[in-house]
Amino acid sequence: MASDQQKNDTMEKIVSLAKRRGFIFQGSEIYGGLAGTFDYGPYGVALKNNVKQLWWKRFVLDREDMFGVDADILMNAAVWEASGHASGFSDPLTTDSKSKKKYRADHLLEAAGVDIKGMNIADMSAAIKERGIKSPEGNSLSEVEAFNMMLKTFIGADVNNPAISYLRPETAQGMFVNFKNILDTFHPRLPFGLAQIGKAFRNEIAPRDFIFRLRELEQMEIEYFVRPANWEESFEHFRQQMHEWTKDIGLSDSHVYELEVASEDRAHYSKRTIDFEFDYPFGRKELYGLAYRTDYDLKSHTEKSGVDLSYFDEETKERFIPHVIEPSFGVDRTILAILSDAYTEDEMGGETRTFLKFSPNVAPVKIAVFPLLKNKPQLVEKAREVYSMLKKEFGAVEFDDNGNIGKRYRRQDEIGTPFCVTIDFDTIEKDQTVTVRDRDTGTQERVAISELKEFLVSRF
Ligand code: ATP
Repeated sequence: MASDQQKNDTMEKIVSLAKRRGFIFQGSEIYGGLAGTFDYGPYGVALKNNVKQLWWKRFVLDREDMFGVDADILMNAAVWEASGHASGFSDPLTTDSKSKKKYRADHLLEAAGVDIKGMNIADMSAAIKERGIKSPEGNSLSEVEAFNMMLKTFIGADVNNPAISYLRPETAQGMFVNFKNILDTFHPRLPFGLAQIGKAFRNEIAPRDFIFRLRELEQMEIEYFVRPANWEESFEHFRQQMHEWTKDIGLSDSHVYELEVASEDRAHYSKRTIDFEFDYPFGRKELYGLAYRTDYDLKSHTEKSGVDLSYFDEETKERFIPHVIEPSFGVDRTILAILSDAYTEDEMGGETRTFLKFSPNVAPVKIAVFPLLKNKPQLVEKAREVYSMLKKEFGAVEFDDNGNIGKRYRRQDEIGTPFCVTIDFDTIEKDQTVTVRDRDTGTQERVAISELKEFLVSRF
């Protein structure tokens, strides 16, 4: 078992590599940052785009029962009243009596070894008092209160009387409010789903653990509409699909766990929830959620908006409100899980080496092409030729002639490039072959340029 120190060290190394190699930077860094925000650099955005494209392919393009949407972040405030977020989307907040710093009461209780399952705000206040739990600074704590996490904003130019809106805390509601649009334009038969990828915002009390708990995050969500009697079948289907997905992106099966969420801990709308947890360096924490939301949302929106969101079944001539299965995936938590699983240290050539063991389908760069020497025009020309050929085929291919070969390998290892191709004097003077180096084993093979594409395809 890794010690707490080792776990912290691993996290620090991942954060530092992510910055050093242009994956992820602190948000607004030159101004000292803004808590809970991070910016993705060139390799980070490439990794993230690969994840989102793979997800869209598996859950939308490869299926006949899924409709993609891209709803706005800003929505009519009535949406959040109907969804229950205006009154119920809150975390338990407690305040340090001296420093006035704010803390998540549940996190402090858990850190003190208290089982918080089923506890409400009053129970948490009582537990803090009974056990004499102090803030991390050693001061007493206030009564626990419910803190609403929606980020408020003001709409319109009438500054004295602005309309209040919220930055959406989940993408889900954008799909519920478009349910009727999809019914009216595509006339789908149950079961079918709406899928969307987009930003969401949560005013987290204590953003932390790098990109694990953010105030601006991205989600990939599905609202899958079913006949009430068939919800279990679809729930099971998506449970399996979610495991398949974690394999698609190269997460180790042994690091993904299911947690059946107890009824008292489920969201107000859910009759069954499974959290998919992942072994992050800082512990086992939620990666994804799968919830049976019943007909809660469509029913509430029907009541609040006065627009009928029922479905008419042509076969049975019945009219009813469909029930919903919701698989919900955090993009940033996916990226952190991929980085944590991929981060590897080993020994090569008598030196410690760090590399990211990305699955090729998420790797931001698939292949790097090098001329052995930068100052030999024949080598550079040939390398450029091979580079262009591979780029046409594989897209994410990089040309690199900076520093010596060892340095280039180290850099490509650290950004997780599966293969490096080197053009040397044998290539141009002897036999038109190149060296292909495998990231994980460091082994090198000579491959004819004429067979290079097929060779790499077979390795991917
Ligand atoms: P947690 O209990 O960790 O706060 P949650 O149960 O509130 O998460 P959901 O409301 O189910 O999360 O959101 C769906 C998914 O969105 C989560 O499984 C996670 O992947 C992602 N997510 C939620 N909150 C955050 C956040 N603050 N930062 C990054 N990702 C998040």
